[in-house]
Amino acid sequence: LVPRLRPFTSTVFAEMTALAVRHDAVNLGQGFPDTDGPAGMLEQAKDSLFGGDNQYPPGPGRPELRAAIARHRQRYGTSYDPDTEVLVTAGATEAIAAALLALTEAGDEVIVVEPYYDSYAAAVAMAGAQRRVIGLTEAGDGRLELDLDAFRAAITPRTRAVLLNSPHNPTGTVFSREQLTEVARLCVEHDLIAITDEVYEHLVFDGSEHVPLATLPGMRTRTVAISSAGKTFNCTGWKIGWVCASPELVAAVKAAKQFITFVSGGPLQPAVAYALEHELDWVEGLRRDLQEKRDRLSAGLADAGFDVRPSFGTYFVTADVRPLGFSDAAELAWALPERVGVAAVPVQVFTDHPDEWKYLLRFAFCKQNEVIDEAVGRLRKLG
Ligand code: PMP
Ligand code: GLN
Repeated sequence: LVPRLRPFTSTVFAEMTALAVRHDAVNLGQGFPDTDGPAGMLEQAKDSLFGGDNQYPPGPGRPELRAAIARHRQRYGTSYDPDTEVLVTAGATEAIAAALLALTEAGDEVIVVEPYYDSYAAAVAMAGAQRRVIGLTEAGDGRLELDLDAFRAAITPRTRAVLLNSPHNPTGTVFSREQLTEVARLCVEHDLIAITDEVYEHLVFDGSEHVPLATLPGMRTRTVAISSAGKTFNCTGWKIGWVCASPELVAAVKAAKQFITFVSGGPLQPAVAYALEHELDWVEGLRRDLQEKRDRLSAGLADAGFDVRPSFGTYFVTADVRPLGFSDAAELAWALPERVGVAAVPVQVFTDHPDEWKYLLRFAFCKQNEVIDEAVGRLRKLG
């Protein structure tokens, strides 16, 4: 393995899920739902699979899916041409990697917010670029915000791009319009490309608003906006994602993408198109359910003795382990499946500064209520 990829030989999700299986633990580690997506979408996939629709789709994606993605994006007031400004990818993960491979190279710097989704550091490394990590700060109400001073300080003449995720995995924070407006201003001032990971765009709670960076002044032409069907329609295994950007940026991402996977998920693409057109009411129901599940798990964790942090979106809530007498969430996370039969992920594995994020565990609440309750019951034994 080449040195630049040596830090990335395994993923915490694969390891934690394997450990959960070994100990028959309730898996609140890896974020995936335990119920299916909308029936109409599944029917459509079945029709495609049995309707002889099983060969390569077109390189940029099925036209009806690109049209549906463009129409869906109109909800934010931005128009994209489905033929030149939309690209279907193998999940958001490929979109992120292809964008970095296409737009950055050795010597370039990419600003990444920590804690960061695990694929970001690996994808930046695969591109040969360098990550410049900035952190989050706590606002008065406990909400985590971008550290904009750190952002300004991280920009150098070599900075090429910023990689931003909101709603944010693993913390569940949602960046405000005000903060994102300042990010946009800095991107324009320093001629940066923004790569925005919006896979949790629909999963925001308590009236929080998802603001796509591309909708802010000067950003439409310099943003690679990425999302995916997995979280919106409970189909994380389908790996149908997409990019919306200017024709130049889409052409660049496509140049990389076409030699990574060429195409993927042909028979699933019409089903995702169908879901984007017809199942957004179902998604609103999912959002409401997840908000209740967030409350259920947050209350249960607090009851079990954790110091629970507020979550405003995503599948995740984080909790401080110190009130239970632990001093390192990673040590606890690796022992937890065997000790009480629950799996969670330590936030520090998503950072370059594990000491600063030492006390937080991430728990997924995208699970049936009985599963959440069972996990909470087991966690009570810790106290
Ligand atoms: N970005 C974030 C923040 C995620 O949490 C995930 C997946 N869980 C992804 C990207 C990957 O999305 P996909 O499965 O569509 O590749
Ligand atoms: N996105 C999911 C999470 O954060 C897991 C995805 C994966 O296993 N790579 O838990």
